[in-house]
Amino acid sequence: MRTKLVVGNWKMHGSLATNLGLLHAVREGVATSAAQVAVCVPYPYLTQALSVLGSSLVAWGAQDVSEHAQGAWTGEVSAAMLADFGCRYVLVGHSERRSCFGDTDAIVAAKYAAALAANLTPILCVGETLAEREAGITGDVVMRQLDAVLSRCGVGSFSRAVVAYEPVWAIGTGRTASPAQAQEVHALIRSHFARENVEIADNLQVLYGGSVKGANAAELFGQPDIDGGLIGGASLVATDFLAICAAAI
Ligand code: PEP
Repeated sequence: MRTKLVVGNWKMHGSLATNLGLLHAVREGVATSAAQVAVCVPYPYLTQALSVLGSSLVAWGAQDVSEHAQGAWTGEVSAAMLADFGCRYVLVGHSERRSCFGDTDAIVAAKYAAALAANLTPILCVGETLAEREAGITGDVVMRQLDAVLSRCGVGSFSRAVVAYEPVWAIGTGRTASPAQAQEVHALIRSHFARENVEIADNLQVLYGGSVKGANAAELFGQPDIDGGLIGGASLVATDFLAICAAAI
């Protein structure tokens, strides 16, 4: 039985003042949660997450990481630096990084490897665009994104990683994949891993992301291969995020 995991992705939102209330509300709200909960905050607020969430049930992480360990990479943040601030998780390959910042499959695989090398748990984001779905190549796109990481790091690495299926057309659009559409791709992802290692496939947490709300979370999380969610917009409002966490049991 896989434990459910709910991860908030704050994207580029927040301030020291507004985060304080949100972090405390989440900390208090998940004090008895059966699901694992984490928030991925902007880099400057990692220290605030560490101070408010330290010794709570809520983990925290970052939204991206450098593929490089250290050196002359102005503006980059290494995985070891994230670990220094107590991060457990880091997103790699979020669709906004892929489409707006040039993160190719190879770069995503390198970031995934860098995260593991620093003992972080990478949350590998995959998903198709609307055009790709309409062209009937959703499975091909998602498998290509997974294979880039599998060929670099091996199936064994997924005993320390999480996969998030996020159809690009559902992110921030208010348009959610139906539970059946999401389950279909999640089952495909799990069977792809099972071809290489059944135990790793069975234990792998595969999250769904894309306009998850309190109103649709329970049905999505009730699907056999959906192990929780990656939550953008709704993670910025404590009551909304906590309602989603409560649906993940
Ligand atoms: C995301 O940021 O990964 C996401 C799924 O956003 P939203 O929940 O707002 O669609």
